[in-house]
Amino acid sequence: MYDVIIIGSGPAGLTASIYTSRAGLKTLVVAGATWGGQLMLTREVENFPGFENGILGPTLMEQMHKQAERCGAELIFEHATATNFKSKPFKVTTGNKVYEAKTVVIATGASAKWLGLESETRLRGRGVSVCATCDAPFFRNKKVVVVGGGDTAMEEALFLSNVVSDVKVIHRRDTLRACKWLQEKAFENPKISFVWNSTVTEVLGKDRVEGVKLANTVSGEQSRLSCDAVFLAIGYTPNTGIFKNQIELEETGYIVVHDETRTNIEGVFVAGDVADYRYRQAIAAAGSGCKAALDVEKYLLST
Ligand code: NAP
Repeated sequence: MYDVIIIGSGPAGLTASIYTSRAGLKTLVVAGATWGGQLMLTREVENFPGFENGILGPTLMEQMHKQAERCGAELIFEHATATNFKSKPFKVTTGNKVYEAKTVVIATGASAKWLGLESETRLRGRGVSVCATCDAPFFRNKKVVVVGGGDTAMEEALFLSNVVSDVKVIHRRDTLRACKWLQEKAFENPKISFVWNSTVTEVLGKDRVEGVKLANTVSGEQSRLSCDAVFLAIGYTPNTGIFKNQIELEETGYIVVHDETRTNIEGVFVAGDVADYRYRQAIAAAGSGCKAALDVEKYLLST
């Protein structure tokens, strides 16, 4: 029986585990077979405080992993396949093993959607990115494209316009999904222009992005556009599939949060991007992992 099982091993889950294990709580992290979260898919991270010259995403996660273990957390590198929050102790299943705990922290994150192109995967971290806040400074005064027509795409385009020389938003329709005020800000920004009714069919370049191949969704016409980076902003999927019918979810799949880290089930807490479609930053996730751990401690003292 664990005091707490933390599901997920990104910055939120590992920070929570550092706090709970240092507080003397018997802590299990169900880290997943592909552990470490979204930072494992990035290269340089320049905005996580404490690293004067930045740090590679995977290196940062490796450090957090070692720190969690040194503090006493137990990590298993398996996916949680099912949970049972209907009775206590709570149960978390990985394959054919069932683990029990007095509390659970859900920190399974959200996954950016990708187009599913081979060239996109190959050039990930070499000009293909899903985070302008993380990667815009690497493309100072360069030409970039943003793919998508929602709020995230407009925010990414506006953020990039402060750093790069030219932003082209490529959208598959001729109207945006983004809210009106973001649309207006993007339309009036001289650095941002739009390529309507178009999808990216290939990211061009051998070792780094050199352009994109486009297909017109109306005429079928093919074209090429040169650029130094491709920022995908086609939405996120919160990793909450196994929590359906277990916990209250928003229509979009994000976990409904009460009072910072609480879910609708007493004793089940949440941290990081799985409940946060707004900030989606590693440091914000780590902060919420800390809050969830402190709330777990308080909850256990009161029960
Ligand atoms: P979203 O609203 O789902 O928009 C995704 C965009 O990507 C849509 O324009 C969609 O095109 C396009 N798209 C999806 N799949 C595609 C594909 N395979 N190829 C090309 N284009 C594709 O996602 P989001 O912008 O990340 O926003 C998610 C949620 O967070 C929304 O509720 C949003 O309001 C909220 N959010 C709010 C803020 C804010 O309030 N400041 C900021 C960010 C996000 P179609 O339009 O044709 O479907």
